[in-house]
Amino acid sequence: MPEQQDVQAPQPMDEWLLKLLACPACPQHYPLSYDAAKSVLVCHCGRYAFPVGSDGIPNLLVTDDKIINSDADPSKCPPPQGGN
Ligand SMILES: [Zn+2]
Repeated sequence: MPEQQDVQAPQPMDEWLLKLLACPACPQHYPLSYDAAKSVLVCHCGRYAFPVGSDGIPNLLVTDDKIINSDADPSKCPPPQGGN
């Protein structure tokens, strides 16, 4: 039986990919959460946000423009939920 699948635009952010990603900026490598409204991956520490392109590829280069809250200190951030 023939299979027909509609080719659609890639998902903005795959959940499995999201689970694999960790913040490249923090020494603790906190998990990132996806903000669909802004198309950004926000670090658990709240200091960094990484834009996700229309192709679903996140820009994880650590540059100054990724800092959304310079007051947030990753070293003082409580560990994320679900961890040990
Ligand atoms: Zn971070």
